[in-house]
Amino acid sequence: MGKAEFGTAKYVANKMKAKGLSKLKFYCQICEKQCRDDNGFKCHIESPSHLRKVKELAQDPMKRRNMIEDYSKQFQNDFVRLLKMSHGEKEIGANRFYQEYIGNKEHIHMNSTKWKALSQFVKHLGDSGICTVIEHGKEETDLDENEEEDEEEEEELSGEKFTIAYIDKSSEAIRRKELGKQKQSVKTDEESSLARLQEQINRAKRNHVEEEEEKSVNKRLRDANHEPIKLSISKVSDPPRTIMKCGMRIKPDFGAFKIAKPDSNKLGFKKADVFKKENREAKIKVNAGDKK
Ligand SMILES: [Zn+2]
Repeated sequence: MGKAEFGTAKYVANKMKAKGLSKLKFYCQICEKQCRDDNGFKCHIESPSHLRKVKELAQDPMKRRNMIEDYSKQFQNDFVRLLKMSHGEKEIGANRFYQEYIGNKEHIHMNSTKWKALSQFVKHLGDSGICTVIEHGKEETDLDENEEEDEEEEEELSGEKFTIAYIDKSSEAIRRKELGKQKQSVKTDEESSLARLQEQINRAKRNHVEEEEEKSVNKRLRDANHEPIKLSISKVSDPPRTIMKCGMRIKPDFGAFKIAKPDSNKLGFKKADVFKKENREAKIKVNAGDKK
């Protein structure tokens, strides 16, 4: 049998066999039995011993629930303990760490727990406050202020949907964090007093400049000859007159109204003109009637 080429499925399978690992889907958690392949697993789940255990569990929902709960607890404990031991509070890709976890031959298999997928379990860790969980979308996210580390992390996290970081709640870790905060606050105190000092210096400079300006203005005022102020008073024009429809003129006059006589000439002329015209037409009509 020839040696499998590096990177192929065959190569990985051989490696897993060499390590004593097999595919997770060929593992029976009920019997805690690892099968080598699909065929082996099929044979196992039809075996009397397996069927008996399944029947027992099916008849006892309480037992089944307890079993799943037990496995879930064990799985979580082992997962978190390994995370804390090997990475501390450092951020790591969830899937990458999961590979580390299943590297242990005797690990609890996730398909025996209440979590259907790694993402579900990881979210549970976040919700429980055990880990800081960051879900990565399609857009690139800044993971660290340090650029060099950033690049490293990006390579590591390529294809990772979640990154996790253990939150150390031990008294030792809390004391360490408090110390860090105190140092930080001392630093900020120093910074703020420096800033206050700088502000005072700036204010003093500004005051000096203002004083100089005031002095120079006063000097210019003293030197200048006082010229007489010229006043100009212009005649205020008459307010506009308003003519009403009836011909009456309203002349606003300092708050009171002067009412002028209507323009009798124009009105009278119009009336007389119309009267004469009508009279002429009547005469013509009468003449026309005589001729008929
Ligand atoms: Zn079984």
